[in-house]
Amino acid sequence: MNEDAGNNFIQKLIEADVASGKHKGDVVTRFPPEPNGFLHIGHAKPIVLNFGLAKTFGGACSLRFDDTNPSKEDDIYVEAIKRDINWLGYDWGERLFHASDYFEQLYDWAVKLIKDSKAYVDSQTPEQIRENRGTLTRPGVESPYRNRTVEENLELFARMKAGEFAEGEHVLRAKIDMSSGNINFRDPVMYRILHSRHQRTGDKWHIYPMYDWAHGQSDALEGVTHSLCSIEFSDHNPLYEWFLDAVGVPKPRTAQTEFARLKITHTLLSKRKLIRLVEENHVSGWDDPRMPTLAGMRRRGYTPKAIRDFIERVGVDRRDSMVEYQLLEHFVRQDLNQTALRVMGVLDPLKVIITNYPEGEEEWLEAVNNPEDPTTGTRKIPFSRELYIDRADFMEDPPRKFFRLAPGREVRLMHGYYITCNDVVKDADGNVTELHCSYDPATKGGDSPDGRKVKGTLHWLSAKHAIDAQVRNYDHLFLSEDPNDVPEGQDFTDNINPASLTVMTGVKLEPSLATATPYSHYQLLRKGYFSIDPDSSADMLVLNQTIGLKDTWAKLQAKQKS
Ligand code: ATP
Ligand code: MG
Repeated sequence: MNEDAGNNFIQKLIEADVASGKHKGDVVTRFPPEPNGFLHIGHAKPIVLNFGLAKTFGGACSLRFDDTNPSKEDDIYVEAIKRDINWLGYDWGERLFHASDYFEQLYDWAVKLIKDSKAYVDSQTPEQIRENRGTLTRPGVESPYRNRTVEENLELFARMKAGEFAEGEHVLRAKIDMSSGNINFRDPVMYRILHSRHQRTGDKWHIYPMYDWAHGQSDALEGVTHSLCSIEFSDHNPLYEWFLDAVGVPKPRTAQTEFARLKITHTLLSKRKLIRLVEENHVSGWDDPRMPTLAGMRRRGYTPKAIRDFIERVGVDRRDSMVEYQLLEHFVRQDLNQTALRVMGVLDPLKVIITNYPEGEEEWLEAVNNPEDPTTGTRKIPFSRELYIDRADFMEDPPRKFFRLAPGREVRLMHGYYITCNDVVKDADGNVTELHCSYDPATKGGDSPDGRKVKGTLHWLSAKHAIDAQVRNYDHLFLSEDPNDVPEGQDFTDNINPASLTVMTGVKLEPSLATATPYSHYQLLRKGYFSIDPDSSADMLVLNQTIGLKDTWAKLQAKQKS
């Protein structure tokens, strides 16, 4: 978090609590994901917020898995969530908790509520329960089972726990107020029967607590001082308070504060929908570089720092707003500009023969790795008689503003020599297949001793040293700014951009990349930022296009100002 609270109203609130000695000045936060999918960029907001605030105030932040629905949850997700939080730069240390750690305690508390006539077993069908809950304009209807005796409730609840009933046959509900204006108070379900095997408690339980029943008590049991959650939970907070009163947790206890959910243009942030993209094979997996998951972004080449900076910049607000995707890209570009090593790669190779360079000879020239970071030093790149340049850097009949290579024109090869194009070789169809150029040995390193100026500087490769690669180019996965905004009768999958992935083959790279490791970042000079994909093999590197060089966000801002 920022040293000054900036646009973070929650930080100001905690400052005030600490100053007034509430919770004895302690700050304990938590991030409570449900392990039913991979984390997405929306989750980065509560992660940065909770771990960041704990750090700012010298407090602690826990990771608590909200593992209350075994039918949807999996260890694969648990591991992915831990990996992604660590990757973002945060650590829960010893504070790894699970809602399932409290199943026993929650059960005992439920029994207490039954004994206090504050809970009952309802045997309506799930449809009846839904129907009788009412709506915002129509009050609910009390269940015919609402006035069962304590004894009957205790017996039925024990048998639910023992697995004697089928799923959906009974639920345990809190007995509150079926006509409450807050629908959460209309006898909320506390337990349902599920015969799924739980990844931590195995087959021990046949009933599982609902999120609302587990959440507030979990916070209280862990001594959470500030429970931060997204805005849709504000109507649930009075219920958490009711439950805590009912089970007898003394005050002062956890205080809940809500913040707006992060929304980004062209981006879907809902695990329920992301899981469909994976299961219906619209993408290659949770870590497909087009996915808004942290795993996908990592593979795409986004950095933890860029994501943290983006989240800080978006700030914490109670009002929902849609953030431009370009803002995220802006921070990715800013970080990669500082950290990515510069290398040369030719996406669409055109052969260049240096006719006055001796056959069979080669030399290794010095090239800086990152002008933004001198500590990264230099490397050697090979020069020889046969080179590649990018086809787009040559025009036979150039317009006035084209400063790259053309017949009779001289350009600089970056870190290399000046070359002049003397001849254009074509195939029978008139396609350019080769350029014959001459080089000036006096311009080694790219400087002319006589002060002769050239307008173009090109990236290039020595043909025989170049290694093979393919590049995966990405565009938004969804066509609309709001992927959920689709015509009647369609769903978000109809909005998928058919051109979100395009593959370029026949790409050539400088030999220093032969030892590049998956997930590392590079700037291909003049082309953009790329990451090494784990699909790479010894004879074929696979590059993910991370982002272009031009700051489209800065441009957008300038346009809006003018
Ligand atoms: P989803 O709708 O994607 O399933 P969720 O809220 O159900 O998200 P959880 O695993 O329950 O996912 O989320 C853990 C925490 O992350 C919750 O406190 C939730 O409020 C928060 N969170 C999830 N999505 C966002 C978002 N887009 N912006 C801010 N916070 C979010
Ligand atoms: Mg959820």
